[in-house]
Amino acid sequence: MTTRTYNFSAGPATLPVSVLEKIQSEMLCLPGVGASILEISHRSPPFIEIANAAEANLRHLLGISDDYSVIFLQGGSRLQFSMVPMNLITDEAKSADYILTGSWGKNAADEAKKEGGVRVAWDCKATNYDRLPADSDLDLDPKAAFVHYTSNETIQGVQFKTEPKTGNVPLVCDASSEFLYKPLDIAKYGMIYACAQKNAGPAGVTVVIMRKDLLERSSDKLPGYLNYKLHAENDSMWNTPPTFAIYVLKLITDWLKDDIGGLEKMYEHNKKKAAVLYDLLDAHPDFYQGHAQKDCRSLMNVTFRLPSDELTSKFLKGADAANLSDLKGHRSVGGIRASIYNAMPMAGVEALRDYMKDFVAKQ
Ligand SMILES: *Cc1c(COP(=O)(O)O)cnc(C)c1O
Repeated sequence: MTTRTYNFSAGPATLPVSVLEKIQSEMLCLPGVGASILEISHRSPPFIEIANAAEANLRHLLGISDDYSVIFLQGGSRLQFSMVPMNLITDEAKSADYILTGSWGKNAADEAKKEGGVRVAWDCKATNYDRLPADSDLDLDPKAAFVHYTSNETIQGVQFKTEPKTGNVPLVCDASSEFLYKPLDIAKYGMIYACAQKNAGPAGVTVVIMRKDLLERSSDKLPGYLNYKLHAENDSMWNTPPTFAIYVLKLITDWLKDDIGGLEKMYEHNKKKAAVLYDLLDAHPDFYQGHAQKDCRSLMNVTFRLPSDELTSKFLKGADAANLSDLKGHRSVGGIRASIYNAMPMAGVEALRDYMKDFVAKQ
């Protein structure tokens, strides 16, 4: 197969074609360097320039102030599930609050339990994670070490529109599957982390944005790699960082800045794309049954079920034949999941909408 499909994978996910072309054109030799990005030292001036540009792009796009460190790590968001409580739970603040709005939030809390006290501030497992809490629903401990939440639950397709209010307790956000989809008010957060392979690049790098005062909580007794303060003090070069993934992150953030025109524009575009699919679900509510309640639908992962497993298989087979790939939902929700991250073009979303329209008309 040599033609690209419209790839609705939840992650690793589709990347902008212009970025892939740029990687291809520079693969044998980075301009002026005489070697590929895969072959140069992380301490060489050309790589340091790339890493600094990636950080500067993130600071520019999200308006990150000097009160925050930006750290590039490996180990994916799963490692953050452990590093967050290891570093931020202390002898003074012995337990953390977790808001469970889907599978990833639950996984984060399960890992945190191994490191310290965990209180569940809210959990909607009973309705298979199809909704989000109002601030008044949250059972928060004012002495908690932090409050953790998952801004977009990739599997269930529920997404917060605004941050939960946590008073003086630092808010920690797993933003893995929505990172850079819209502007954020960083000052509301103690920390944000996101693995890159959903919306910001390839697998291999995880971005951590952390308020600098929180770095003081990291104990010297932690293994070096698991200590945020050490990474921040060493500009993410305490050990060899994932150089290729950081290079692609730099290209993706260039694309957001220069081709898209910033995160406000990206957000407008993402709202339009998601509306194309949700409008179709709403036009056929008996056939395409959305998983998320309407007011918490994700702009990134559109989840829905068909009336039977037979129809779901038929839908997926036909979609593959129409070059619409990776639409199978996660087994815990079933049905279909269309992941339409930043890099999914409107043409891909419209092709899926037309296929869905056709499919329902034929039943
Ligand atoms: C994908 C994902 C993760 C896990 O990321 P890994 O890089 O595989 O560890 C965690 N949280 C959310 C919200 C995700 O979408």
